[in-house]
Amino acid sequence: MTRRWLFADQLGPHFLDRPDQAVLLVESSAVFARRRFHRQKAHLVLHALRTRARELGDQALFLQTRTYAEALAQVGETVDVVQPTTYAADRFVRDRGIDVLPERGFATTRAEFAGFAHDRKRLLLEDFYRWQRARFGLLMDGSEPTGGKWNYDHDNREPPPKALRLDIDEPWLAQEDDLDGEVRDDLDRLQRDGKAEFVGEDGPRWSASSRQDALLALDTFVRTRLAQFGPTEDAMLAADPWMAHSTLSPAINLGLLHPLECVEAAENAYRAGTAPLASVEGYIRQVIGWREYVYSIYWHVDDDYRSRNALEAHQPLPQWWRDLDHTRVTAHCLSGVLKDLAERGWVHHIPRLMVLGGWALQRGYDPAELTAWFHESFVDGYDWVMLPNVVGMSQHADGGLMATKPYASGGAYINRMSDYCGGCPYDPKKRLGPDACPYTAGYWAFLDRTQPHLQGNQRMAQPLANLARLKDLAQVVAQEHERGDAPP
Ligand code: SF4
Repeated sequence: MTRRWLFADQLGPHFLDRPDQAVLLVESSAVFARRRFHRQKAHLVLHALRTRARELGDQALFLQTRTYAEALAQVGETVDVVQPTTYAADRFVRDRGIDVLPERGFATTRAEFAGFAHDRKRLLLEDFYRWQRARFGLLMDGSEPTGGKWNYDHDNREPPPKALRLDIDEPWLAQEDDLDGEVRDDLDRLQRDGKAEFVGEDGPRWSASSRQDALLALDTFVRTRLAQFGPTEDAMLAADPWMAHSTLSPAINLGLLHPLECVEAAENAYRAGTAPLASVEGYIRQVIGWREYVYSIYWHVDDDYRSRNALEAHQPLPQWWRDLDHTRVTAHCLSGVLKDLAERGWVHHIPRLMVLGGWALQRGYDPAELTAWFHESFVDGYDWVMLPNVVGMSQHADGGLMATKPYASGGAYINRMSDYCGGCPYDPKKRLGPDACPYTAGYWAFLDRTQPHLQGNQRMAQPLANLARLKDLAQVVAQEHERGDAPP
């Protein structure tokens, strides 16, 4: 008999060939000794794994060991696996001659992406996204995109409304059960015994950790929030961390939901007339476009991608950043985002890219260290998702493979797309002086530092021309140099 070894991000029914298949689940503690995870992330993963073990009962052999190797030594049966999502796990199973089946947590297998990439000079997201839409028949009317356009980004970039919160129901939030208390006790014990160190606050657990709850969360999103998702998907409100986002990424990344069932539910809402096309297209683009693209790029490049550093960013991450210590940060946007991250292990894609990623880019944080930090600090963070998103998208460390220019901006972007600046002692328009916005000043200091690397980039020609006209550049650079790695 061959047992299906399910990793902790392969917990949905679609990872099994038949409902009564024999399963191996392994909870390894060694990973907590190696990395400092957000406590909520450790909690969620252990809860999801133990919930799956409880659901499967005798069908699953559930081993709690220090390492995977120790677990395998106890199994005494042949095991196979569905394609693991990381290089490290992939190497582990292949080195042991374990049978590896194609992906099931994604709509795109590595082989399919290789077919797409074959003979293409550039691997543009937009091409990939259209290919996905067409081959899955998503939002398609025959061979044409529904509504006549592939892309409704233009409708989906509105600033936030003049309100403290969106006028929208809360997302589905988990009710804790007896396993949550058990997991907390175990994590406390690991910490007390010096076998693990965590960051962030533990609880209450908000994400689904079972298939049943993940389906409830999906249904709630599609019924009550999807219609409003599009217009404000890039906006931030200090008092509304969820906005209209689905908050399903932890459940999808645990393998509890298949991405295709999420986008099909969204399309059904459009066809039923309960959600507008722009919102539905925006959501489908995130899931079947961006998420699948990032996963595919992760495997398309090689593992050396993590050491790329095209902008020569070598600053170590400061301790206040590592500790998510928002109390030491005065800048209202960064302090608010770090606080949300410490409390929930999650903020949506714009705080990630523009507030956290933007700060790190400006300050020259080491991209590999930053990738590990994002992986450890987010409840939905995994190597496959963070490596391309951080090294490629947010830090431009791959020299332009994923993004044609760095996602660098000053305080003006944050001011337009959020309500943070109103409550901030800094002024987003100022780059010099005690109330100079650190993002605005940092933007110019970043351009000054990286211009030798950006000179030939056509899309950076205008920003670099603006830089050349800045009369107070030397003072701005000196001011930001003086700030060093102190919290802003
Ligand atoms: Fe952030 Fe600058 Fe706005 Fe303050 S003024 S909230 S630091 S962007």
